[in-house]
Amino acid sequence: MSKGSVENYSFVSVKQLNPAKLCSPDYLRNNKQFIISISSNYGNFDLDLTHTPCNYGGVRFWLLCSCGKRCTKLYLKRGAYACRQCQQLNYMSQQWNKSDIPLLRVRRLRNRLEWPQDLRAWPIYQKPKNMHWRTFSALVRELEEREQERLQMFIVYLKGMGIW
Ligand SMILES: [Zn+2]
Repeated sequence: MSKGSVENYSFVSVKQLNPAKLCSPDYLRNNKQFIISISSNYGNFDLDLTHTPCNYGGVRFWLLCSCGKRCTKLYLKRGAYACRQCQQLNYMSQQWNKSDIPLLRVRRLRNRLEWPQDLRAWPIYQKPKNMHWRTFSALVRELEEREQERLQMFIVYLKGMGIW
């Protein structure tokens, strides 16, 4: 079976959603993350959005995939919107599997911390009841490093694919 290619799938983009028209500056100041509901021929969906400051003022909006990645587009496959990598669209190489190791480490650390596996959530400083503070802070530190590693590997991977 051939892999899906992005061109064959329905997608939703930040541009289409135009969140700026839904959110006042005040709302954005108070909500780092918010949900937009969309409905289309394909059904109704709730999409997570976030925003980052722009160099020239204002904000830039992002769609959040369940893997924690900020995206400009999410693709619809099997009844859910997710990023190109999660939907395994385009190239699904051995290389990608390897570069996913940091993600596995992140998941394992979150597991030990009893934090949710939804990487969009960053529940800062929630220490499991029976864990020593020293252990806890070491785990959090490691998790922060792994998150960084994960993002870097991700960028390397994309560069390798000639997208950037
Ligand atoms: Zn994803």
